[in-house]
Amino acid sequence: MLATLRRDTPCELAIRSAVHRLGLRYRVDWPLPGTRRRADLSFIGAKVAVFVDGCFWHACPIHATWPKANAAWWRRKIFANVARDRDTDSRLRKAGWKLLRFWEHEHPERAARSVARVVRRRLHRVLASGSPTAAK
Ligand SMILES: [Zn+2]
Repeated sequence: MLATLRRDTPCELAIRSAVHRLGLRYRVDWPLPGTRRRADLSFIGAKVAVFVDGCFWHACPIHATWPKANAAWWRRKIFANVARDRDTDSRLRKAGWKLLRFWEHEHPERAARSVARVVRRRLHRVLASGSPTAAK
């Protein structure tokens, strides 16, 4: 069981270092405004929050597994995680943030390139108009 591997998972570290290699800088585990949640990577100027979701803890459609011992407890726990993810998403969107979620099974370099594309696009908008969400 992955019981203690909730932070700094190998996948999260791989995505972080790939993003860093692409020349972007970010905060790690930065508390998001208006919530007690923390994104794995936060790009504050661009208002982009990146989450790397563990396949077990967040019920990946491909790799979710449902322990048989204490089954009801695990289902409640995992469903609560998923519900909290959706709530985080909606709070952040309302605050003008862009969310990117990746599964831990995704290719880190590919994930990093998506992050870089989105962050750079939003930074250009900040330079052009002062806001990452302003229309072009
Ligand atoms: Zn998965």
